[in-house]
Amino acid sequence: MKKPEETGLNKTSAWDSVDRKAVDRFATEYMSVIRDAKTEREFVEAIATIAQAEGYTLIDPLSRKAFPKSDKLLFINRGKNAVLVRLGKHPLGDGVTMVAAHVDAPRIDVKQNPLFESTGLALFQTHYYGGIKKYQWVTIPLALHGVVFDKNGRKLQLRIGEDEADPVFSISDILPHLGQAQAEKKLSEGVAGEALDAIVGHIPSSNKNEKTPVKANSLKVIAEQLHIDERAFAAAELEMVPAMKPREVGFDHSMILAYGHDDRICGYTAARGLLDQRNVPDRTQIVLLVDKEEIGSDGDTGMQSEFLELIIERLLHELNEKATVRQVLWNSVALSADVGAGMDPNYLDVFEAANAATVGNGIVITKFTGSRGKTSAHDASAETLHKFLEILDKKAVPWQVAEMGKVDVGGGGTVAKFLSKRGIETLDAGPALLSMHAPQELASKADLYCCYLAYRAFLEQGR
Ligand code: MN
Ligand code: MN
Repeated sequence: MKKPEETGLNKTSAWDSVDRKAVDRFATEYMSVIRDAKTEREFVEAIATIAQAEGYTLIDPLSRKAFPKSDKLLFINRGKNAVLVRLGKHPLGDGVTMVAAHVDAPRIDVKQNPLFESTGLALFQTHYYGGIKKYQWVTIPLALHGVVFDKNGRKLQLRIGEDEADPVFSISDILPHLGQAQAEKKLSEGVAGEALDAIVGHIPSSNKNEKTPVKANSLKVIAEQLHIDERAFAAAELEMVPAMKPREVGFDHSMILAYGHDDRICGYTAARGLLDQRNVPDRTQIVLLVDKEEIGSDGDTGMQSEFLELIIERLLHELNEKATVRQVLWNSVALSADVGAGMDPNYLDVFEAANAATVGNGIVITKFTGSRGKTSAHDASAETLHKFLEILDKKAVPWQVAEMGKVDVGGGGTVAKFLSKRGIETLDAGPALLSMHAPQELASKADLYCCYLAYRAFLEQGR
């Protein structure tokens, strides 16, 4: 095999050209945001707080009242999908410039009837969310985040396992001594979905008549601490996420190991790219932060929902414009901001080096996604690529072109195809990660910063 260093276009390190002080500053801010925002709801809330502090006004697109006089607007859809809009000088009918990223991440969801007892332990039944390698999620500390209603009907936002004093939860794995049958299985079957139940309690109730004393005691403790009973889980939305903080990796502190880079690294850099726009733009700028990408972008908060249409329809009305929503969309351009696969030095054989991304070599431009013969792809046109690469070159933003892996090895998708079906001229662009979809993913600080520069430049230049 050819050494990857010897092949490929634009395979120079972004570290050679970025302002390292600015990179470190930016990385510190990003790490503090993703340390505290580990679910789609929490990330939407975090970005909304930052945006409002920067002068963005939260608006309900369904409100009958006229919009306040502001050119910086924030829309939140059911707490899981946020849209930032910076109105430009040109009519909306000329189209808008968008960057879209997703705010959901692979995780372990709690089932609606979760609590049971086995072998002196209380456990939660779980159902994993997104494309995970299940064996990676056992034996690590997990935090419980999400929404549940207490006995008085009050909505509680749980966040248990993030403070040092909090307990965490954990999924067990069989010891190697008894793991021979497991070891013989295919890696994908070594840990079954139903073997991802998480330990949540251990002390039995003092009432010796209880058939399941550990479950009973766990319910008692839960009731004392949260004022909820077993029925509350039926209407809850609880997610187990790694109870770990983002950490710098390497003697040179060059990388970030953290949960949820996919795709909050793009969500954060895109939002920052919009918030840091100096001048009133010509074209309206939009950052879309959508939910449910990891499970197909379906539902009322995913990229396939029509929340974007709802907002544009309302904006056209407020601005007294005659254009239709379809005209706005068909005249628009977007970056689908999502992470890609970085070449993994431990697994070089799945990559075709000349067309694979290298961590630290700048934002990755991906012409097409999909798998096998480009099935289910978004495939950007040459014109779109040409325009975007010109923008990056003009601003001297390091970039590389890549597809996910070797032909026929696998593949994947992003929100791009759901943007482009609306007529939006769309291109995939984001950082390369290592260990994507693992509880702790690895990103280069240089790439983080390049994405910020790229999204900011794209929003500024439009077409
Ligand atoms: Mn993604
Ligand atoms: Mn993903």
